Amino acid sequence: PRPIALLNAALLDTRARRRQISPGKSVVHWFKRDLRLMDNHALSLASRKAKDHGIPLVCMYIVSPEDFEAHNTSAARVDFDLRNLELMKQDLAELDIPLYVETVEKRKDAIPQLLANFKDWGAKHVYCNMEYEVDELRRETKLVMQCLKAEIAFEVVQDDVVVEPGKLASGAGKQYSVYSPWFKSWVKYVHEHPHVLKEHLSPTANPSTARDTFSAIFDASIPPAPACKALSTEDRERLTSLFPAGEHEALTRLNTFLSTSKAQNYARARNLPATPGTSVLSPHFSAGTLSTRTAVRLALATTTKSLPALESSHPGLRTWISEVAWRDFYKHVLAHWPYVCMAKPFKYEYTNINWEYNDAHFEAWAAGKTGYPIVDAAMRQCNTMAWMHNRCRMIVASFLAKDLLLDWRLGEKYFMLHLIDGDFASNNGGWGFAASTGVDPQPYFRVFNPLLQSEKFDAEGEYIRKWVPELKDVVGKAIHDPYGRGAGKVAEKAGYPKPIVEHKMARERALARYKEGIGRE
Ligand code: FAD
Repeated sequence: PRPIALLNAALLDTRARRRQISPGKSVVHWFKRDLRLMDNHALSLASRKAKDHGIPLVCMYIVSPEDFEAHNTSAARVDFDLRNLELMKQDLAELDIPLYVETVEKRKDAIPQLLANFKDWGAKHVYCNMEYEVDELRRETKLVMQCLKAEIAFEVVQDDVVVEPGKLASGAGKQYSVYSPWFKSWVKYVHEHPHVLKEHLSPTANPSTARDTFSAIFDASIPPAPACKALSTEDRERLTSLFPAGEHEALTRLNTFLSTSKAQNYARARNLPATPGTSVLSPHFSAGTLSTRTAVRLALATTTKSLPALESSHPGLRTWISEVAWRDFYKHVLAHWPYVCMAKPFKYEYTNINWEYNDAHFEAWAAGKTGYPIVDAAMRQCNTMAWMHNRCRMIVASFLAKDLLLDWRLGEKYFMLHLIDGDFASNNGGWGFAASTGVDPQPYFRVFNPLLQSEKFDAEGEYIRKWVPELKDVVGKAIHDPYGRGAGKVAEKAGYPKPIVEHKMARERALARYKEGIGRE
């Protein structure tokens, strides 16, 4: 059985017994990737429970260095989460709700530590939102059972997606593995079940006596990032100004995006990396400082049209909602085919591709020194901003897997280790798509031509000039291919590398190697 099915079964089987458990002395909400007060399903339920019984709500969050290592969490992401927690602690304190942030070195200690906390706080009802990765689903299943033994009701609810995994099935009753029909079904479902977009109430204030009972938690500060994930002061300052933290910032960013021409022009502008045409909300969706439910609800509130009708009337808005839905799609894929969590390609027949394990090529790719300006600009954007434009993510991912014929999992890991918005499902889905090993009906023949991509999506070379300063003096179309278009001397003088592979040869090699790999199935 799938881990999500086991957790749902454990929740269902124990529901009656959990309901009989006494209210206890406090109710706990465990924050994970839902770092917000507004429209947070589990937090809302926890707050209501506490209020109904006149007992305090206690919030907690676990920092686990071993988890960070296991999930390749980037230092940028850890820093962003800690900054979010600082702000949340203040917002919660205004409601007399304590937030306890605890460092648990070893993953195996998380469950005993959680149980010890619940006992210390006299908590009999604990809430958290569901995560869809295998380790998390298994941990939560154990917690449901172990808590029950200790007479504690542990509740896990859906929150991270607009439509819960398992709700959409094809005509044959199967999980969709292709996005377009899945999205059609997603639109229909959301339209027919408007409650999925309904806002969950924000928590209400604790009795003021909670300040005395939990004074130690109120006084405790948020721990700094563990040494293995600490940023330099310079990086921290840069990322703090690029990505201010907190749910208020996320909401402002969303409202600005929706109220300006950005949303209307999105369908066209979203592919141009030199244009600020996308929302840059991914760090917030990943940390949970903004829920996709809120985003879709507020997007729809900008028009009188219904979701299905947007296609003809508001193509920009509709395309943006369809991108937000891609996030749901990859979570559905993860929940239904959990083996993607275990470094296996979605398409099992692509397991035996004979990759080139060429370290020098991987290092050139990672450093943005491949001699392909659009690839190098994108990788440097990633290394400086901890974020990369979606079009460029597709270009560099295709370049790694097809042109360099390097194992896509190296790129997948590199992204997780460097992006501020690293999200397993979206990242794994994006890499699978680019390497043709994932949920994509296209066979492996689609190989992006980096030169054509560059000419099409960065026609004037603005993006390249911004991120590859060695090429700032290259004029005209030569920016896309300086050595092939008469700007070799300028590029060489500025220290810009020659292409590390020749695209035509690399394409042929990739096609042959993919074909051979599938043949060896
Ligand atoms: P917008 O264009 O404004 O879109 C709004 C939101 O929709 C995004 O914030 C994001 O949550 C969601 N979204 C948009 N495009 C996609 C997509 N293709 N797949 C899933 N969700 C999408 N996104 C991540 O959040 N984390 C990742 O680790 C990640 N890794 C990726 C790796 C590869 C190889 C590729 C091709 C894509 C990856 N994406 C990832 C998806 C996408 O690139 C980013 O979500 C997007 O660039 C974020 O920018 P934005 O917030 O301005 O997006």
